[in-house]
Amino acid sequence: MDKKYICYCGLYCENCAVMAKVTPAAKVLYTEMVNGGFEGIMHLIPGSEGFWPFLKSMATEGICVSCKEGSGDPSCAVRICAKEKGVEVCAFCDSYPCEKLAPLCKGVPVLEHDNALLREKGVDAWGKLQDERRDKGFTYAGEK
Ligand code: SF4
Ligand code: SF4
Repeated sequence: MDKKYICYCGLYCENCAVMAKVTPAAKVLYTEMVNGGFEGIMHLIPGSEGFWPFLKSMATEGICVSCKEGSGDPSCAVRICAKEKGVEVCAFCDSYPCEKLAPLCKGVPVLEHDNALLREKGVDAWGKLQDERRDKGFTYAGEK
């Protein structure tokens, strides 16, 4: 587990589909298109104006850094609150569980379990679970 990928809400960036599935797929598509000579003719294809820079940027730079570095919804109420309160993760907050987390827990069913694990067993046990999931190809989106 890489601590820089621990999100305030209890998600783990490496198990997000954007990092685990979409970015690697974008790299494959981008490489295939470059090797196929598409880069030089993309401007001739209607509708490619936004697509090509987006694909290139995702493949070469990645679109996500991490929750704590500012990726994701800039207006995320959970992140704003956690930063204001100075908590490392919501699971360790005195107000946990709160209404700000409720919609996230509804959308990501494992989050409640994962935050309970964080509270009861700590970051290392939680991280071990995240690593095991990553190695099996798990993503939060795939659990819905
Ligand atoms: S931006 Fe908000 S919802 Fe997204 S991972 Fe960070 S705390 Fe969780
Ligand atoms: S009040 Fe809620 S959203 Fe804010 S830090 Fe605590 S648990 Fe997280």
